[in-house]
Amino acid sequence: MIPENSIIVRSRIKEAAERAGRRADDIILVCVTKTVGVPQIEEALAAGVADIGESRVQDAEIKFKAIGMRAKWHLIGHLQTNKVKDAVRIFDLIHSVDSLKLAEEISKRAGVFDKTQEILVEVKTSEEATKYGAATEKVLDLVEKAAALPHIKIMGLMTMAPIVSDAEEARPYFKRLREISEAIAAKKIDNVNMRYLSMGMTQDFEVAIEEGANMVRVGHAIFEG
Ligand SMILES: *Cc1c(COP(=O)(O)O)cnc(C)c1O
Repeated sequence: MIPENSIIVRSRIKEAAERAGRRADDIILVCVTKTVGVPQIEEALAAGVADIGESRVQDAEIKFKAIGMRAKWHLIGHLQTNKVKDAVRIFDLIHSVDSLKLAEEISKRAGVFDKTQEILVEVKTSEEATKYGAATEKVLDLVEKAAALPHIKIMGLMTMAPIVSDAEEARPYFKRLREISEAIAAKKIDNVNMRYLSMGMTQDFEVAIEEGANMVRVGHAIFEG
């Protein structure tokens, strides 16, 4: 099931990319493993998955012990400051930075490991989707301030659309995130690289790709599709 589903998801990514005049290779599939255990993750890796996404640091810790550096690790869920120390040890990319306080803690803890932690700034493009994420009008200010911290590197933006019954309804949120990303990129801020747009999940990843996503976070379609 997991190998077949992975193939289907990849071909859907490819078709969406082609519709948008882009290459499937430019889109990173983050396989969201928050609902599954190590055996399923092993199956996904065997099926060619290279990036895995977890919501909670505690859950990732156990899986990281088994999988280690055989995958790239993405933290996609809310991060509390008291978990930052463990998060910087495990994750290659933290998608959920939504306050300067959190960015400061990440920089401080990453410094201890002599690491430059790559992060995305999470943006709240809708009121319904999540209580987390920086408000759209505060994103630029957060990016500018976080960029000055010594041990983090800003690599782009992340958002979640609200739960919708028709993926088309998610399009305006993705479009908004892309526009914010383009506006920030145009400012050419030091230590800021608007390379990744992390948006789209099982319900809406094709629409997200059409709107510019180059990192999609997919769980259900791989493990339960
Ligand atoms: C769970 C989760 C996903 C994946 O959702 P699916 O519907 O399983 O594809 C993506 N992004 C975030 C932030 C999540 O928490």
